[in-house]
Amino acid sequence: MATLLLAEDVDDIAMVLTRVFKRAGFTVLHGADGAAAYDLAVEHRPDVVLTDLGMPRMDGWELIRLIRAHKELSETPIAILTGQLQPGDVRVPESGACSLVLKPTLNDVLVSVMTELAGHGPHGHTFSSTGCITT
Ligand SMILES: [Zn+2]
Repeated sequence: MATLLLAEDVDDIAMVLTRVFKRAGFTVLHGADGAAAYDLAVEHRPDVVLTDLGMPRMDGWELIRLIRAHKELSETPIAILTGQLQPGDVRVPESGACSLVLKPTLNDVLVSVMTELAGHGPHGHTFSSTGCITT
């Protein structure tokens, strides 16, 4: 089953999401900020990444930038989970993220987006204006 890397600095949210994804069959790694998540990504090569944006030490934008710049991680599917953006925000595809999930969201929606990304697998991500996967 797919390994999901979760970058989330709020403990309560991380705990709930970890439970949700484990129940859906994912192996879950949790980094409490972008830097910790990046270290986990380098070490474990997750199948998919779900990242918050606002985090201490390293935010989600920087995490995505580093993953896309890493030779062996660059094709990893990445989704952003945030309540801080509007749908269609051009910074999402420009950042290299594949999908945007806006908070609040249903756990089922989140699981289906990440399952779709995991099924899509590694891909030569294009920095298009629409993103490579729209759900
Ligand atoms: Zn992509």
